[in-house]
Order: sequence, then C-alpha cells, then structure tokens
Amino acid sequence: MERVIGIDLGTTNSCVSILEGDQPVVIPNRGGYKTTPSVVAVTEAGKRLVGHIAKRQAITNAENTVYAAKRLIGRKWNSPQVKNAILTSSYSIIEGPHGDVRIKLRDKTYSVPEVSSMVLQEMKIIAEDYLGEPVKKAVITVPAYFNDNQRQATKDAGAIAGLDVIRIINEPTAASLAYGYGKDFDRTVAVYDLGGGTFDVSILEIGASGVFKVISTTGDTFLGGEDFDARIIDWLVNGFQQEHTIDLRQDRMALQRLRDAAEKAKCELSSVKETEINLPFIISTGRNEALHLQRTLTRDTLEKLTDDLVERTVEICRQALEDARLHVDEIEDVILVGGMTRMPAVQAAVAEFFGREPNRSVHPDEVVAVGAAIQGAALIQDRHDMILLDVTPHALGIMTFGSNFEELIPQNTTVPTSRTKTFTTSRDDQTAVKILVMQGESKRATDNELLGEFILTGLRRAPKGHVEIEVAFEINTDGIVSVHAKDLETGQAQSIQVTATSGLTADEIKNMMATAQDYLVERRSDEQFEGAKQEAETLMAEIERMFPEIERVVGTADFGRDAINKARSTLEKARAAITAKDTQAVKQQVEQLQRTQRMFKGVVARG
Ligand code: AMP
Repeated sequence: MERVIGIDLGTTNSCVSILEGDQPVVIPNRGGYKTTPSVVAVTEAGKRLVGHIAKRQAITNAENTVYAAKRLIGRKWNSPQVKNAILTSSYSIIEGPHGDVRIKLRDKTYSVPEVSSMVLQEMKIIAEDYLGEPVKKAVITVPAYFNDNQRQATKDAGAIAGLDVIRIINEPTAASLAYGYGKDFDRTVAVYDLGGGTFDVSILEIGASGVFKVISTTGDTFLGGEDFDARIIDWLVNGFQQEHTIDLRQDRMALQRLRDAAEKAKCELSSVKETEINLPFIISTGRNEALHLQRTLTRDTLEKLTDDLVERTVEICRQALEDARLHVDEIEDVILVGGMTRMPAVQAAVAEFFGREPNRSVHPDEVVAVGAAIQGAALIQDRHDMILLDVTPHALGIMTFGSNFEELIPQNTTVPTSRTKTFTTSRDDQTAVKILVMQGESKRATDNELLGEFILTGLRRAPKGHVEIEVAFEINTDGIVSVHAKDLETGQAQSIQVTATSGLTADEIKNMMATAQDYLVERRSDEQFEGAKQEAETLMAEIERMFPEIERVVGTADFGRDAINKARSTLEKARAAITAKDTQAVKQQVEQLQRTQRMFKGVVARG
C-alpha cells in the first residue's frame, strides 16, 4: 500500500507526519526537531538552503533569505498584502509575468510556489530519510480562509516538489481530525488557530460515526505572530529613534536582527515575566562608532502593545459563532493550534471568551500535520468511517451588469458542491458573454477576488433576454473551483477550471519540477560525498594517531618501513580524493584505510 504523508506547510514552520499502523507519527528532521522553519535561502556560492540551516544564516544573508512566503502565495502583485510585504521584507519582491509575485534571490527570480516547493521538498526528504523509501503522495494543509488562487498555488508548489497532492485540507479541519481521531464522541468544538502569519477559527461538529462537519470558518490571512513581532520591533525602533535619532529600519541587517530578537523575546515572555533584548553593534553611526541596543521588555508591556491584535481574534471568534448560529455555551471544547497560542494573554482571552479552559491534549505545532496524515491514510485506504465535510470559506459568484456580485454558492456551504443558475443576454444580437468568476462577500464585485474569467462565444443572434445561458459552479473537495457556461439552446459550451490567474503556466511548472529534481540529485550526491568523507576522515585520524606506536614496534624493520610508507601513501590518496570531491575515489580509499587500520591494529596487538 502506498503511503501518504501529511504536511502542514506553515508560515513560520512546517511539519510532516505519517500514520504508522494506526498511530500518527510526527517525523523529526535530521537535527531531531519535529518542525522545520519554512525558510529558504541561496548562498553566495548559489547553494540552496532550507530549514534551520537557512534560518541560522538569515542575519548575514538577509537579502537572499525568504521567510513567510506563505503570505505571498497565490496573491496578485497589486494586492494590498503584497504591498505590505514589500515594505516589511528584507528580500526583494518583484512583479511576475502574469501579474503575480516573484522573489529575487541573488541573480535568479523565483515564483512563490517555487519557494514553497523547496520547503515541501525538504519535508518530503525528511519523510523519505525516516521511512527509508520514496514518498510520492501527500495531503497538504492550508488556512481555511485561503481562496482558490492560494489553494491552487499551494497545489502547484506540491507538484514542483515532486509530490502528488491527493488533497488540500483546511488547517482547522485537520486539527479537529487529529483531536477526534480514535475517540468515540459527539461534540461541537472550536478550533482557534493563531500561527505565524494567519488566524483562523472554525466551528465543527464531530460525530461518533466519524463525520467531521465544519459548520463555519472564518479568519484573517494577515493576522499572526509576525504582527506581534512587528509591534515589538516598532517599540524598539521608536525607542532607538528617540534616543539616537537613527531609523534602524533603513538597515536591512539591523532589521533582520531586530526581527529575530523580537520573536525570541515574545516567545520567552510566554514563560517568564520579563526579558532582556540585547543587540550589540546594531548600527554604525558613520563616525567610526557603533551603537548598541539594550532594553528590557516585560510581559505586561508586550500585552499592552498587542492587546488589540488579541482582541481582533476574539472578534473573529464571535463572528464564527454567529455564522454557525451557535451560542458560546454550545461549544464543548476549544482546541488551540499554532505557536502563538502559547502566549498566556492569548490563552486567557480564549478561555474568557469561550468560558472554558482550552483543551490541552493536542500539540499546537504538530496537530495539523497529524490531521493531514490521518486524512491521507483515510483517503488511500478508502475508509468511510472518517468523513470530512468541509465548507467553502468564501461566497462564490460572478460579476453581473453594473459591477454587481451575483452570488451562486454562499459562504460556509459544505463542499464538494455545485450550483447552477440561468442568465440571459443583456444586449440585442449579443454573440459573446464574458464571465468573471469571483470569490468574496461584498455585494460590489470589484471588492471581491477575481478568480478567473472566460468568454462564451458563438451565441445565437437574438434580441436581448432571449438567449439563456446556464452557468454551473463546482467546488471540489480541495476547495478548487471550476465553472461551466452553456447556451441552453445550441449547447455551445465553455468551461474553465479556475486555475490561479496569478499562478504559473503548465510549462513553467514543468521546468520548475525539473529544477527541483536536479537539486535532489545534486543534494543526494552531496550527502553521499559528505558521508564518505566523514568515514574517511575518522579512519585517517585514527591511523595518524597510531603512527608513533607503529614506529616504535616495527619502525626499524624493513617490512615495517614498507607498511608505514604504504599507509602514508594511502592517507595522501584519501586526502586528494576528498579535495577533488570525488565520491567514488573517497569510497575506494575508505576500503584501503580500513585495511591499513586493521593491519596497524594487528601490529600493535602483536607488539
Ligand atoms: P506556527 O505558524 O504555528 O508555527 O506559529 C509560529 C508562530 O508562533 C510564530 O510567530 C512564533 O513566534 C510563535 N510562537 C512560537 N512559540 C511561541 C511561544 N512560546 N510564545 C509565543 N509565541 C510563540
């Protein structure tokens, strides 16, 4: 049976899980960590770095280190979110050829799905190293609030990474799946998910029969841990400006150090009451003098700086309950997801609003990946005892005359779903109609997100109102939309799968897949070389260590001199092979070294 991994592709960190038997396992990376930073960098030598190793070099290579790419995925160049990201990112965000966003790292530009694919590929490698076999299939999670473009772009990222993404599921749904897995109960729960970049809250009904039904879901794709960090950064920068009249924001390296320090302080303040932020040599004054930044931040101050952000999440919870037509008393459990829910003020606000302490049985950083793995296993085993009924987070419709938004599928409709509506032409002898597919809640079409457009041509010439066009919308289980339009009389039809208008072309994806594959081959060969090199170096050090003893025992005998000379020549050859980065030659020398070592040991034992 083919295995499926569940990947939580987070803004800040990512996590991968798999079901072993019936047990979900969160797979650690080589460093032993169960989450891996969603950070990608390119070094001066053009080498790609992903995860902890990329994060560690972020300060010295800020311009070529991408973090929080998830905030940009599937977004259009002219969107306010992208404008905002341009102002706050240390890497350079540029306009792509399809009105999309590209990221410039060194001399190359990358699409956002490509950057995310590097993180996904890393998660794939982590799983493969652990399982000792290739992994192809994956379930990837996205925030419930993601629109169609963002989902499609995430799927593209999976494809580029060489994954067959069998399902995209919503993070809160995944969390509730992990929470309800193996438990036999009926319960109405709220999932409060505050991550690095996004906030979601969903209300779900978990049925003893294994049905997970989302009743409502809402959120804010621009509210998360980084906004908390930004408040600390503002506080530090403003304080520094008052004292020294220097704006630290102008310095990319300083900004990156501030960002790290702010996040660290924030996390520390979840367990201690105050912490010291200490950034020596933060900036040079230009008069051969460097300034230091040193301040104490208390939990109280942090809470004051961020209380409106916490309050915003509570407002969104209120909205989710209203959408679900439920009273707060009807919520029987609250599940916390996302690293930010470790902040005491967040926990307190949640407890106060829901009138109960949140559930602590699930791990906030791992629960989403675990849910994805559970869903993956259920899909592949075709299990019907676990049914996920998700809802569409946004209303879906088309733009009609006068820029009005005509809704076809309301927000929070269970997916998969389809709806049909008949429209008539608005002009005499009209032979074509343009269908603009939109997602959003506003009555004004232009306020909503344009998902795609297409033209239905070849209509019969007839007076206005006489040609009937049937428009059918379909949302599949991944939350991805397709639309069909048909002239009811002639049967003339057009349809589109609303692929991200801000996304990539099939050719681009294919090229990127090839690059990702090249990277994998290169990386595997690097790893083989490193492995052989390490083995050789250990042996070499041991042999070197034995020389004095060998000299003492057999150094005066001819055969002894011979053996010593041979050993020295083997060492030379091994060193040369390492310098030449020749994996095969290093492996050969490892065998020689082993022989030498055995021989030396024999001599010492006899001597
Ligand atoms: P996630 O996207 O779920 O990985 O959440 C990451 C966010 O949680 C980041 O903004 C982290 O800074 C934040 N975070 C992680 N640990 C803590 C902590 N102990 N206290 C407060 N925030 C935290």
